[in-house]
Amino acid sequence: MANDGNYKKSKIGDHQLKPETMMMSYGYDPQFSEGSVKPPVFLTSTFTFQTPEEGEESFHIMAGRKPAPEGSVGGLIYSRFNHPNVEIIEDRLSLFEGSECSVVCSSGMGAISAIMLAYLRPGDVIVQSAPLYGGTETLIRKFLPQFNIKTAEFDDGLDEEGMLTALRDAGKKGRVAMVFIESPANPTNSLVDFEALNRVLDSIETETDHRPITVCDNTLMGPIFQQVVPQGLDMAMYSLTKYVGGHSDLVAGAVCGSREMLRPVRATRGIIGLNLDPHTSWMISRSLETLSIRMERAASSGQKVAKWLADNAYISAKILHPDFIQDKTYQAVYMRQCSGPSSTFSFVLDVSKSDAFRLINNLSIFKSAVSLGGSESLVCHPGSTTHSGVSTELRDKFGVTDGLIRLSIGLEHPDDLIADLDNAFKMTFQG
Ligand SMILES: *Cc1c(COP(=O)(O)O)cnc(C)c1O
Repeated sequence: MANDGNYKKSKIGDHQLKPETMMMSYGYDPQFSEGSVKPPVFLTSTFTFQTPEEGEESFHIMAGRKPAPEGSVGGLIYSRFNHPNVEIIEDRLSLFEGSECSVVCSSGMGAISAIMLAYLRPGDVIVQSAPLYGGTETLIRKFLPQFNIKTAEFDDGLDEEGMLTALRDAGKKGRVAMVFIESPANPTNSLVDFEALNRVLDSIETETDHRPITVCDNTLMGPIFQQVVPQGLDMAMYSLTKYVGGHSDLVAGAVCGSREMLRPVRATRGIIGLNLDPHTSWMISRSLETLSIRMERAASSGQKVAKWLADNAYISAKILHPDFIQDKTYQAVYMRQCSGPSSTFSFVLDVSKSDAFRLINNLSIFKSAVSLGGSESLVCHPGSTTHSGVSTELRDKFGVTDGLIRLSIGLEHPDDLIADLDNAFKMTFQG
């Protein structure tokens, strides 16, 4: 699409428009499509060049032999590289994240894979926070080592000294190319202090003359309650399958960052064929219009449910929701980095797996399923599902015990969700 014009309007006079407003218009010009208010789904695999010269120019830009014009990623060529529906959601997602640019992929794991293939080479070390999403754990701990990419981790993202020691130790194995974190982490809501991590990386850069790239999986919060790139990390990564898609009816992912940082990621997406299809991209453009109100409503219901769990009369419960995590350092980092809580959080009961299963079986509104961030509320037992591939030793270390149950609060009325929990707790623990 062309570079400027009214459809990339972001100001009225001096007044900067908010992302919520721009979700309905930014990056799409109705005049290109018969005046259609909403973007059509561009079901085409290829795009005509007006002249062979234009085709040549587009290939120079796509292959990185020439820079793209300011504010553009180059002309349309072929839908594996780019198409209008994906460009629209990349532009709009960048507005929410506050990043210069985004690259959308066919899944969250596709987005992570594109980042890693773009930036890791045999012999490199990747340092991760822990725990990570189960699929990411498998990719880093089981898949990447087959390509001689080494792994290291730090357990506590609030412990600056510990992170520095972990990175120094990792450097003994090879070049530390990347630090991959999840903050808040699923299913424990633990945090990594971005400022502390950046100070650690400053020291590592001084010591080794090389600064590892930082990537944060922002799926649980973003891009509404936490923006990562404006807080000084190199890339934010999203599973759009979760809150952004928001209706449990699609699978997609994204990476946000500077144009320069994302250039190799975009190239990798094209080379290995990870672009998202036009129809799913269109569904995400629709989801983005309601993202902010959905996440706000879900978060406020989540706070009510967390409070009910904390005060429940049936059994003592530890609530892994930011409103109920008392640690001072945690609270300071939470207040600095986030503007609200995710509606996905866990609670921990001192019970056996079979009691945890009985409780889940006694729920009727909450559906028992993996995933999160949809319009319907879900309940999940991570120890036996999403984190079952993680060793018992690691699970114990991160507190993913048999009595840990994760909720993803959706858009039902909070009173009904609380009634469902009250009934299930009564049946399970007073029955
Ligand atoms: C779901 C999820 C992913 C993987 O995304 P997919 O879209 O399923 O590939 C990565 N990170 C987190 C935190 C997730 O919840």
